[in-house]
Amino acid sequence: MADNKKTSILFIYTGGTIGMVQDQDTGALKPFRFDNILEEVPELRKFGFNLSSYAFNPPLDSSNISPDAWIKIAGIIEQNYHSFDGFIVLHGTDTMAFSASALSFMLENLGKPVIFTGSQLPIGSLRTDAKENLISSVEIAAAVKNGEPLVPEVGIFFENRLYRGNRTTKNNTEDFNAFMSGNYPPLAESGVHIRYNYSAIRYATHEPLIVHQKLDERLLILKLFPGISRQVVESAFSIGGIRAVILETFGAGNAPEHDWFIQLVKEACGQGIIVMNVTQCNTGSVEMGMYETSRRLAVAGVVNGRDITTEAAVTKLMYLTGVSDDPAWIVKHLSMSLRGEMTV
Ligand code: ASP
Repeated sequence: MADNKKTSILFIYTGGTIGMVQDQDTGALKPFRFDNILEEVPELRKFGFNLSSYAFNPPLDSSNISPDAWIKIAGIIEQNYHSFDGFIVLHGTDTMAFSASALSFMLENLGKPVIFTGSQLPIGSLRTDAKENLISSVEIAAAVKNGEPLVPEVGIFFENRLYRGNRTTKNNTEDFNAFMSGNYPPLAESGVHIRYNYSAIRYATHEPLIVHQKLDERLLILKLFPGISRQVVESAFSIGGIRAVILETFGAGNAPEHDWFIQLVKEACGQGIIVMNVTQCNTGSVEMGMYETSRRLAVAGVVNGRDITTEAAVTKLMYLTGVSDDPAWIVKHLSMSLRGEMTV
């Protein structure tokens, strides 16, 4: 545990269910004033940390989160990077996996914890999961070993697990356990103690933090289904200015073998549109060439997304196409694991 007097944590409250309380008169859920967090969760005082907060105004339901909000979060972290030991981003669960993935790419050489959390029930409700999520996130964000942060990563803490943010997907609208990380083990699990999985955590190189704030949103996800028509595929690839298409494929990266389909993909790749193969499955990897149905995609110029999540693929592409206009450079970096987002 860090020297309590010196440990300081910055909360960045973006919105979401976690920040809701019940209006005493109407019973309806409304956002609470985040500067009153210590009144809502007085247990936080027991840490004895210096806790500060920055609240989005108005708070956003996470369905309204956009790259502008990610740029804002990254900017707040950059401005406060040297004054705080850790950062906690309170966020709606619906798009949390996208936001955590985006921040992982935007914060190059991150050397401090950035822990996203939220809740399924509002902080003001009796059975809320918010308090536990919040308290454990604070403990993780403050944890140090030999004077160094224990988890210098963008993570998502939910229920009893800390996941690498860019490996997560929201997979449950109902349970307190709302997220999964199908292809990477938890970075920590909380029970009586918080047990850290040291060998799974990425440790920083101690290079200075670089914050990337240019994201290019001109991409789309084309989810395949049996019967997808030529017209649909053609329209997707011919959207003006489109720079990248994520092909969400079947199983281990398979797609229909129709000549028209392969031809359209090939033409798109030839025009410098990045086409990336990401599986529709939550667990497991694309294996281009395992079946004829994926071998033809590889020949057409499609990039192997391996075991990346769709959320990480979207945000990695936004980041890389924001940095460069050169398709060869983008493909090269897409194929590398930049922040531990895929297994290579
Ligand atoms: N719709 C909410 C949001 O994502 C749900 C939640 O917070 O869990 O902002």
